[in-house]
Amino acid sequence: MSSEITSPAAGLPAVSVIGLGQMGSALAGAFLTAGHRTTVWNRTQAKADALVRRGAARADSVAAAIEASELVVVCVLDHVAVRELLDPEAGLLVGHTLVNMTSGSPEQARENAAWAARHGFAYLDGGIMTTPPGVGHPASMILCSGSPAAFAEHRGTLAALGDPVGLGEDAGLASLYDTGLLGLMWSVFAGWLHATALVGADGVPARAFTPLAIRWLTTVGGFMDTYAPQIDAGRCPGDDATVDVQLAAVNHLLEASRDRGIDTRLPELHRELMAKTIAAGHGQDSYARVIEQFRGA
Ligand code: NAP
Repeated sequence: MSSEITSPAAGLPAVSVIGLGQMGSALAGAFLTAGHRTTVWNRTQAKADALVRRGAARADSVAAAIEASELVVVCVLDHVAVRELLDPEAGLLVGHTLVNMTSGSPEQARENAAWAARHGFAYLDGGIMTTPPGVGHPASMILCSGSPAAFAEHRGTLAALGDPVGLGEDAGLASLYDTGLLGLMWSVFAGWLHATALVGADGVPARAFTPLAIRWLTTVGGFMDTYAPQIDAGRCPGDDATVDVQLAAVNHLLEASRDRGIDTRLPELHRELMAKTIAAGHGQDSYARVIEQFRGA
């Protein structure tokens, strides 16, 4: 974290940040860097010290943090901690917007939105699609769902954290997208690590293979763009490549893995998904048809 002292820029909205773990501290730091008057509170008070040295105002209580700013951001461990902290202060939140950047389930986000509606304050649920060092980078997605009016009003302030992406009124969507996108990340990591182990068995260093892997992901993104409308339409014509053809290719991956003593669980899963798609009569469809295997589960 930068130790540079920052002064609030005239005219920028004030922000309060409740929760100063690794992520909350990064959020508060980004608001300070952007020039917002930033008030901070954390259960363990010492974690506010570095931010106070940079110009943040220290709140002595959760209530004082809420009262300091119309926009209140909370980022603590989990949903239980959010409600433990804020349930007793729900009355004070009336007239404020609460942005909950704490990870949770879509159901918890919807429960929070209903709780906010009962008390009469605006609620946005957030998904931070980066780690603390990426907070404040314009490419980092900050997913937001909930009150469209609150999103429109605070989008400019939230832009201090990255690129705010509005997902609409259903407060559960930021968590749902966040969870799905993390699943995608782990699948990509697993595929990359399996492939890196495969080429590594023949002496190729990870740093030689990885630039090509990254280029390949751009091409794969193009395939996804082609397949998404097919999934929505329920029609998956195998105009570019069929599942039949890809089953043959995955067998090469399995053999090459076995020959090198590389774990085969991942290619076996791919083969099973494709084989079941073919058994269901869709061998001539595009790979998009494999979605039925996940829906079936
Ligand atoms: P962290 O460094 O472990 O910080 C946890 C924070 O929660 C601390 O401020 C802690 O206060 C507070 N807390 C925990 N239980 C509390 C309670 N019962 N009452 C009051 N405060 C409580 O975690 P983090 O990395 O900042 O993560 C915070 C949230 O951001 C999590 O939901 C996480 O999933 C999400 N997130 C993190 C990342 C990341 O890369 N780190 C990325 C995206 C989303 P004390 O300091 O007093 O312990």
